[in-house]
Parts: sequence; structure tokens; C-alpha cells
Amino acid sequence: MTVLLDTSCPDYQLRVNTRARHVRIRVTPLGEVEVVIPPGFDPAAVPAILVKRSAWLRRTRDRMVQSSRALPETHGLRPQRVELLAVGETWQVEYAIGLSRKLLESRPACRLTLISDSPAQQTARHLRDWLQKRAKEILPDWLRKTAAELDLPCKQISVRGQRTRWGSCSTQHNISLNRNLLLLPKETVRYLFIHELCHTQHLNHSIDFWQEVARHAPGFKTQERLLRDAARSLPLWVHT
Ligand SMILES: [Zn+2]
Repeated sequence: MTVLLDTSCPDYQLRVNTRARHVRIRVTPLGEVEVVIPPGFDPAAVPAILVKRSAWLRRTRDRMVQSSRALPETHGLRPQRVELLAVGETWQVEYAIGLSRKLLESRPACRLTLISDSPAQQTARHLRDWLQKRAKEILPDWLRKTAAELDLPCKQISVRGQRTRWGSCSTQHNISLNRNLLLLPKETVRYLFIHELCHTQHLNHSIDFWQEVARHAPGFKTQERLLRDAARSLPLWVHT
């Protein structure tokens, strides 16, 4: 028997990261291949690396397809429901053909209507944009209130779709929040706010920083774990 191996190079996205020391290959939750290279690395060398890793890539993608089949109805590219745990809202999602707008929102009923006659990934992107809008309406005010309550400073607040962080704080006390926080439980979002606000006092993860955190959030270890776990189990549609 002859086994033919597919060793052709897959499509991939290339990123240069100034902090990267090695070439890093990653399969995104949507099954796309992303290659991160350090500055000065020759991009022409990437295809050969991917061909060498093709068996691993195929296994990883197969595993993702399998697990996406088992996703609950809130977690696929066309979710039936969106649960904004942070604010206790459950939105029913409907799909309709021939909509002139990309997304219709009916607020009192908590109902969203999305176009169903376009590719799932494109439709999911409209949902992701809606989440961004909702997060901008909710998160900054909430963070300001928490800052006032804790008597900690906070200047500008931005809301974005960071891939690897729930939030960050700059030396100027500007805080950046991840829109996907809306999908997490209220206490976990409040904890993330406390974490970032404490960075206005200590811009590192030193013992002093954690002591400050513990003063405001005694259960911080549990919340840190919840944040880590939540990052791994976000719905597929937020990754579009
Ligand atoms: Zn931190």
C-alpha cells in the first residue's frame, strides 16, 4: 500500500513581533495558520518550516474541527444565544435572509437579527462588532465607578479586541479593556478592573503588587484562574 502524504504548504498569515525570539506557529481557533517571526528572520524560510510541520498542522486542525462540532449553541460561528454574563443579559440571535442591514438590534426584547445568506465567518464578524459597541457602552463607566470606589486613579479607557490580554495599564494610568469581558461573570470582570487599577500603583507583578490586589480582592487567586480558563473557552465567533 502506498500512502501519499500531503506536504504542500498551507495558507498562512505572517506577523513580525519585535519581542519574539523564535519562530512560532499557531493554529487560530478558526483553523487559520499564523506564523510569528522575530525581526530579521527571512520570511522566505517560512514555507519550508510549515511543510516540515505539516503532519502536526493537520492533526491540530482535525482536532479543532472535532471539538467545534461539539460546541454548545452559544459557542459556534452562528450562535443561537449570546450570554453577556457580566450584565446578566441573554440575547436571542436569529438569522434572516435579505436583510439590508448587517445586524438588527431589538433592545427591550434582547433580540438580534443577523443576515444568514452570507458566509458564517462574515456574519459572526457583525456580531463581534456589536459586542465591541456594547462593551464601549458598558465597561468604561463601570471601570470609572470601581476606580472611584477604590480611590485609585484611571485616565483614558479604551476597549479593544486584544487576542492575548484581558486588559492592560500604561505608565500614564490609561487602561485598555478587552471587549470579551462582557462574556465573563460580573465578579470576574470586577476583579480584572481591580487588577488593572492596582497596576497604577505597581506597574509589574511584584509582591507589592499582589499585596495591593489582595487588599481589594482577597479571592484573587481563584479569579486569576477563572480569567485564564475563560480565555481558552471563548465562543468561536469572537475570534473572527
Ligand atoms: Zn497584570
